[in-house]
This record gives sequence, C-alpha cells and structure tokens, in this order.
Amino acid sequence: MATLDERLKKTIRQDIQSMHAYAIQNSAGLVKLDAMENPFRLSEALQKELGERLGRVAINRYPVVCVADVITALSTYVKLPAGCKLMLGNGSDELISLLALACDVPGASILAPLPGFVMYEMSAKLQGLKFIGVPLSTNFELDEAAMLAAIEAHRPAITWIAYPNNPTANLFDEGAVERIVAAVGKQNGLVVMDEAYQPFSSRSWMGKVTQHEHVLVMRTLSKFGLAGVRLGYMVGAAALIDEVDKVRPPYNISALNAEATLFALDHADVFAAQAEVLRAERAKLLRLLAEVPGAQPFPSDANMILVRVPDSRKAFEGMRARGVLVKNIEALHPLLKNCLRLTVGTPEENTLMIDALKASL
Ligand SMILES: *Cc1c(COP(=O)(O)O)cnc(C)c1O
Repeated sequence: MATLDERLKKTIRQDIQSMHAYAIQNSAGLVKLDAMENPFRLSEALQKELGERLGRVAINRYPVVCVADVITALSTYVKLPAGCKLMLGNGSDELISLLALACDVPGASILAPLPGFVMYEMSAKLQGLKFIGVPLSTNFELDEAAMLAAIEAHRPAITWIAYPNNPTANLFDEGAVERIVAAVGKQNGLVVMDEAYQPFSSRSWMGKVTQHEHVLVMRTLSKFGLAGVRLGYMVGAAALIDEVDKVRPPYNISALNAEATLFALDHADVFAAQAEVLRAERAKLLRLLAEVPGAQPFPSDANMILVRVPDSRKAFEGMRARGVLVKNIEALHPLLKNCLRLTVGTPEENTLMIDALKASL
C-alpha cells in the first residue's frame, strides 16, 4: 500500500500541491489594523439581544424561511432595482468562486486589474480558467487602453472591477469604468462590480444595474461590521442571478448567519453611525499622514489607506514591535513597492497607529 505522502502526490491536483495556503497574520496582543474589519464591538445591550435571538433559532431545521427573510430584508435595504434579484453567499468569497464555476464554458477567461483582490485570480485558477491581469497605472487608476485591448483580445467571461479597489482603496475613474462596461457588453461578457467597501464609498453601481443587464453588483457585510458572520450578496438581472444561483450549495447560509444578519439590518442605524465615524477618521488619518515626512498616502474611498514609505518592511516590523499590526503589501505586485495598507480603526487605535508609523520610518 502507498504511504499517505505517495497517495497525496497521486490524488491531489499538481497545481494545488504547489500552492501556498491563504496566510493569515498572527494578531495576538496587537492592535489589529490589517484586515479592514470594523473595530467596534456590539454594545452590551445589543449582545444580549443578539444572544436571545440566536437562542430562539430553530437549529434543528435546515435554513429555509430565515434565508428567504434575509433576501427580503436585504432587497429592501439596497432598494433592489426593478427586474433584479439578489442571491446570498457565505461571504462574497463564496460568490466569487460560484461565478467562476458557473462561467466555466470552454475557452472562458477571467480578467481583472492588478493589483486587485486576490480571490479573483485564485477562483479562476482553481476552476481551471485562464486569468488575465491588467496592470493599473502608477497612480492606481485603470489603464483604460490596456483594459479595452485585453477585453477585445480575450473576450473574458467575467471582468472584475472592485469599486473601490483593494488594496489601493481608490474608486476608479467613472468614465473609464463606463467605457469598460460598454466594451464588455459588446463582447457578450459579464462585469462584476465588487462593492465590498460600499459603506465608506462615495459612489455605487447599484442604481445602474437595470440599464446594464450584464453587470452584477456584489457586496458583503464583512466590512460593514460582520466579518465574523460571513454573509455576501449579489444583485443582477433576474435571469442572470437565476442561472448563477443553480450552482450555489442549497444550504450555504446557516440559520445563525441569517439571524445575525436580520439583527444587524434591524440595527442598521448603529452600523451606519460607525461607518460615519470611520469615514471621519479616514479623513483625519489622510491629513495626518500627509504631514509625516517620507510617507505618501493615496486617496481612499474605503476603510483602509494605502501609504508608501521609504522601507515598508522596516516600517511594518517597527510598527509590529510597537504593538500595531498592519499589512505590508509590497510583495503583492511591483506597483506596490514599499506600500503598507492601513485599516482605519477607532480614534484611539488610529493615534497608536500614526505614532507607531512615525517611530518606525
Ligand atoms: C474583503 C473583500 C471581499 C471578501 O469579503 P467576504 O464577504 O468577507 O468574503 C471581497 N472583495 C473585496 C474587494 C474585499 O476587499
């Protein structure tokens, strides 16, 4: 009989064997500003209410009615455009994978600007689809000519636009996005506008999906304040959502996720107030960073700020030694040389972060 090692070599896909697992930084004891989480915990009163609501959930049953209730509540929350439907994912990461699965027609490819969200490329590769990455310009705007040429050459099934983009935090020029959406429309592809950072963004595509039936808008409750719950959603033309929904595992949203989501939507005002604090903190951080000698912050429409420093490795290590964990993203893409990605935290956390950064440059 073969050893387990030999068995794995034979049975696990070669490309998966050569992959690295998704790395999550150890944050024990540190001010955690590395993953765009909402820094605010629930108040004691809300913890108690959530506990009672979760306690009443019928966990002996498969989640059916509660999930339908979440779709109804989210449809109201986003003012679902006419002719559209909304589907749920176990985080938007699951929706990203489901789209790659659903669009795996012979010769299909997936296109996204780079640097961008790593799951676009990962989902394409895991599904065995060709991935086309188109570099952004040096100021992290879309290279419109390169995007249009790549769309024409490859006719991708899916074109991803993170709006705002992660890790650069900016909203791409609206005219360029419009022209890219039109070009993909002519090639019979789909565009997904990933609005993970919508609570902090000055623009959205939600109102435009009715005019563009090849555009999907994806959002998540993770950056809104429920990263631990795992709930993403996607809106698009009803017939398109119906097709993608066929590849969704039937009970992908747990009854506990569903109840926690309904609870959060019942208290949407609390989360909206937190987002307002974070937007004000972002403005404050951008002002402070602009005054730090050697630091070059870039514009942000999200709850994170990209900043270039003289030596990002030294700054990252120095900040961590001072108790603040951010993300050194320079290895993600050559355009990100010496860049750190800072998550916007509470006022107190942000003071610690700025002080740690200044001391570490
Ligand atoms: C964080 C993030 C997501 C993933 O969100 P989950 O719902 O937590 O899976 C998707 N897209 C972008 C651009 C993100 O930054």
